[in-house]
Amino acid sequence: MNHLTSETFDANARAALANPQLRGALHRATSLFGVRRREAASGLSNWEELRSQARAIKDETLLHLDCYLERFAANAEAAGARLHWARDAAEANGIVCRLAKERNARLVVKGKSMATEEIHLNAALEAEGIEALETDLGEYIIQLAGETPSHIIAPAIHKTRGQIAELFSERLGTDRTDDIAKLTVTARQVLREKFAAADIGVSGVNFGVAETGTILILENEGNIRLTTSLPRIHIAVMGIEKLVPRFADLDIFLKLLPRSGTGQQITSYQSLLTGTKRRESDEGPEELHIIMLDNGRSRMLARPVTRQSLACIRCGACLNACPVYQQIGGHAYGSVYPGPIGAVITPQLFGLRKAAQLPYASSLCGACREVCPVKIDIPALLLHLRTQITEGPKQEGTSAEQEAKPRRLERLAFKFWAAVMTRPRWYELSGRLLRTLQRLVVRDGKIGRVDGVLRKMFPPLAAWTSARDLRPIESRTFREQWRRTNGRSNNS
Ligand code: SF4
Repeated sequence: MNHLTSETFDANARAALANPQLRGALHRATSLFGVRRREAASGLSNWEELRSQARAIKDETLLHLDCYLERFAANAEAAGARLHWARDAAEANGIVCRLAKERNARLVVKGKSMATEEIHLNAALEAEGIEALETDLGEYIIQLAGETPSHIIAPAIHKTRGQIAELFSERLGTDRTDDIAKLTVTARQVLREKFAAADIGVSGVNFGVAETGTILILENEGNIRLTTSLPRIHIAVMGIEKLVPRFADLDIFLKLLPRSGTGQQITSYQSLLTGTKRRESDEGPEELHIIMLDNGRSRMLARPVTRQSLACIRCGACLNACPVYQQIGGHAYGSVYPGPIGAVITPQLFGLRKAAQLPYASSLCGACREVCPVKIDIPALLLHLRTQITEGPKQEGTSAEQEAKPRRLERLAFKFWAAVMTRPRWYELSGRLLRTLQRLVVRDGKIGRVDGVLRKMFPPLAAWTSARDLRPIESRTFREQWRRTNGRSNNS
């Protein structure tokens, strides 16, 4: 079982970096996704326009979320759905477990839901003696392995074909084969029986349409149609931010999401569900329950700077583009939401104290912002969270911020740095001072003992020098060279 947490990110990342098999699998998968995304996006001449439109729709929705939530609830209920509101994970799990127990359910089939991973629904159901079975192939694989997803759209991205073959042979007793078609057939046979026997189907939601009360679920395997229509009862767990105002808005997101996620022009299955079945001969569940999950989202909504985090449509493109994620994968983040967007969402959902290392898991190269189909400025959000961590609890605002542990030393260092950088004479003097001091350790133009000394004596500086070469300061500063050159040209 995977027990990594965000609190141990540094150690998790080091362990991941020491695993060449993991890095190989990540490199192959993220590179392929990246190439496919670029090709798919370049096939649309109005790609940038679509991104701007999508962001504008999300901004409008989030600004008036209360109105759109009411409209969505009214229209969904008019179509036969039952709406439930959950402030946190415990409430959401409580609702699902109550509904299941009231109906004497023993088996729940699940699919396409990061939200249920976020609230740990499987564990809550199992505690009530109810079996919860993942039906998406990737999610089924990691459930068999006793792990958590390591990617937003490809939960088993970290596993090689050989590892999956081993797992199936060990857990399902099948002959060992790494033929993908045979492995898929094995999984399908197991899952089909479970679909037929399931009492309840649980899913996530990609988009909810306020105008019609419709929910849209996207996937490539067809399993979600079985999840939502074979069992008598369908429970959809939906983050409150998943709304779009109008049905026509879906057109834009249906162009952006599959292209950004897997490089597909369109997802294989697009299930639009509006309420329950009306006649006996109709497909669909007799009961549809939609659980509207807050779990920290209204805190993010309350401030303009963090609100944009809620525009995320969970395409996973920022993970594939991120040089940090590419090396360490999703488990190191210790959160259901890994990668750049995970480093932004996790501290906001679960508290800065628990995830204080995550906003630093970025080189701020901006690759995530470049690929994000809804133009979320992830580097700006990471910097905002770093400020919250550094400034600590004296900042007004969210409870997550109140939990933040101040990094006093860092704050002091930057104050000193700012003081020197804004005073030219201090700046010049500090350069001269450092050049004089470095004579103690520089031999033949190279730094001798100082690297080892810094590592042993000054842990904050060692964090820098342990992965980088420390170079001697030039014998002549830029300013001195400028004065010399300028002086010469003036004289000539
Ligand atoms: S932040 Fe943007 S790129 Fe990353 S998962 Fe969300 S929508 Fe996709």
